[in-house]
Amino acid sequence: MVDKLLPKPFLADARTHLDQYPEEEILSVLSRARSAGVGLIIAAGTTLDSSRACLRLSEGYEDVFAGVGIHPMDLQRPLDQRTLTELRDLALSSRKVVVVSEVGLDFLKGAPDRDIQYQAFREQVRLAKDLGLPVVFHSREADLEVLRVLEEERAWTVGGAMHYFQGDEATARRCIELGFHISLAKPLLRLLHLQEVAKRLSPETVVLESDCYPQPFKKKRESWTEPRHVRAVAEKLAQLWNVSLENVAQATTGNLLSLLAGKGGPVAKEACQEAP
Ligand SMILES: [Zn+2]
Repeated sequence: MVDKLLPKPFLADARTHLDQYPEEEILSVLSRARSAGVGLIIAAGTTLDSSRACLRLSEGYEDVFAGVGIHPMDLQRPLDQRTLTELRDLALSSRKVVVVSEVGLDFLKGAPDRDIQYQAFREQVRLAKDLGLPVVFHSREADLEVLRVLEEERAWTVGGAMHYFQGDEATARRCIELGFHISLAKPLLRLLHLQEVAKRLSPETVVLESDCYPQPFKKKRESWTEPRHVRAVAEKLAQLWNVSLENVAQATTGNLLSLLAGKGGPVAKEACQEAP
């Protein structure tokens, strides 16, 4: 399923907010990730500035790749043409921009106006299709609506993943039927219903992520989530599937690589082969 040359275990983190960590911490975060076997990390933008920062990071570090996009919680107004053009230019400016992320819908109380969210989501899905990039999408209390928009926009032509998945089996099935992957993160370690769902997912449908960002509200620095925690998620999955950690790594990294094959694939593969 996946390139035999990949070192083992070679894990990939499909979504992080690496750009939010202090610059001087990035190297140590990445080196802890590498020691845990996590050698391919996507830093996802949430605003134009953060998309730019993710791109800069991806250019500075071989194993970091970038996503560009405006997060639904960061919308103040409908996305205008200028912002869309800037996102497009950013994506076209580097081979290391491999996904449109983070985009989606968020129906949490107090979230931005829903009409604005739908407009921004649809426009960014169209952008992803124009660019031929997969979409790593966000959904909070909006799973069916997010999937409906993706279906209407025929986003399966580029594929993608539902990030930080915590839904039920029916939602997972729907997502997969529509041509998308399920991205699992640390909630898998504690949510029993999610473990039951994950147990029944086939390995071709899953990618892994940390969704990490700085967490100063946690007392100890070492408790902050980092890309290295993808390993714990992979270990849990190995236990649920009753397979080895290497099997989980090969499947999930392979899935992410094939998602990125249109653009980031070749670059990611080089990075994999050079990784320790
Ligand atoms: Zn999200």
